[in-house]
Amino acid sequence: MSYDNNNIFAKILRREIPCIKLYEDEHTLAFMDIMPQTDGHALVIPKASAVTLFDLPDEAAAACMRTVRKIGNAQKQGLGADGVVLMQLNGPGAGQTVPHFHIHVIPGSIGDLRRPHATVMADQNHLKALAARIVAALA
Ligand code: AMP
Repeated sequence: MSYDNNNIFAKILRREIPCIKLYEDEHTLAFMDIMPQTDGHALVIPKASAVTLFDLPDEAAAACMRTVRKIGNAQKQGLGADGVVLMQLNGPGAGQTVPHFHIHVIPGSIGDLRRPHATVMADQNHLKALAARIVAALA
């Protein structure tokens, strides 16, 4: 699938639009989902340009999983999450809405995903407060 440099996550990576950042390293960025399905819902993205898992180089996929592990552990510690659900959609046929590869890291259980996917905007201050607890647990 061809990569659109103007997708919203590419703009976040170029700092053209803001995000509530949780973690960044050479290969990945983690930030809060603005339409979370549970409190603490985060996204991990590679800096490499890829739309789906099937376009993503192995090294970038491995880097994403390392960051997912960090964020998931911080959600468990910082938010007291009992479990962490990973979700990753490939292509519009799967319901992918942003065409830059990403892994949803969602504290809670599968039964908690009652909020519809990518529809309800959360309060920014609430997101920032949750992010601060996750970031503190990363330290
Ligand atoms: P998907 O449908 O799997 O492509 O997921 C895209 C996710 O990105 C959804 O959960 C949206 O809520 C989230 N999202 C869209 N725009 C932004 C943004 N500017 N900052 C953070 N998350 C976003």
